[in-house]
Amino acid sequence: MLRRPLAGLAAAALGRVPTDGMSGPRPVVLSGPSGAGKSTLLKRLLQEHGSVFGFSVSHTTRDPRPGEENGKDYYFVTREVMQRDIAAGDFIEHAEFSGNLYGTSKAAVRAVQAMNRICVLDVDLQGVRNIKKTDLRPIYIFVQPPSLDVLEQRLRQRNTETEESLAKRLAAARVDMESSKEQGLFDLVIINDNLDTAYQTLEEALSEEMKNVQRTSCS
Ligand code: ADP
Ligand code: 5GP
Repeated sequence: MLRRPLAGLAAAALGRVPTDGMSGPRPVVLSGPSGAGKSTLLKRLLQEHGSVFGFSVSHTTRDPRPGEENGKDYYFVTREVMQRDIAAGDFIEHAEFSGNLYGTSKAAVRAVQAMNRICVLDVDLQGVRNIKKTDLRPIYIFVQPPSLDVLEQRLRQRNTETEESLAKRLAAARVDMESSKEQGLFDLVIINDNLDTAYQTLEEALSEEMKNVQRTSCS
């Protein structure tokens, strides 16, 4: 469901927080409830178009899940280190989610943009709202599960959460699903029911940006 055209969406709002001259292709922000399928879609995008997209590796204070790698999935840090770096101004945005800190460092986005790749950020709703206050001007995409029941099933099947963190994530999901309807918050809402269909929608929405990158890297 295309909420509004993707072209020419760079908001002209005043009073934005500068991101220290970051430049390059227009970034993409993926948001949506935990368990909606953001990482799954993102992994496929990076597998299929690895030379065009780059993932902005966030920092988090949560523990790594089995198979997650430091520096690839996240930078896993202590709360103390993260708070120090936030105070030093190293982050574009940060938020507390389900009892842990998460944040996008300026260095993470810069590293992707330096390669002339489309930087993809995976952030929660607070991150979306905070990025709107910066001059990053990404395309905002909300990944939505078909229903809260399906979301719960997927989170349970992923087998990464305790009952406590599952409950926190589902509570946040309820709020996120409502917020996603807010006029102008997202450029595109993708309902991730069938994975292939959802992926095709994502790929199609980003096809113009991909062509732009391919054109500039060939010239
Ligand atoms: P997120 O990154 O948004 O938290 P994940 O990508 O980890 O979500 O997906 C949550 C779980 O749901 C994973 O186990 C994933 O394999 C599964 N999943 C993702 N998309 C689909 C889909 N369309 N159909 C069924 N299962 C899915
Ligand atoms: P998870 O613990 O499942 O990896 O992530 C939990 C939530 O944190 C997800 O909604 C994810 O989008 C969000 N998240 C991951 N990295 C960041 C970040 O850098 N900033 C913000 N604001 N949210 C993030």
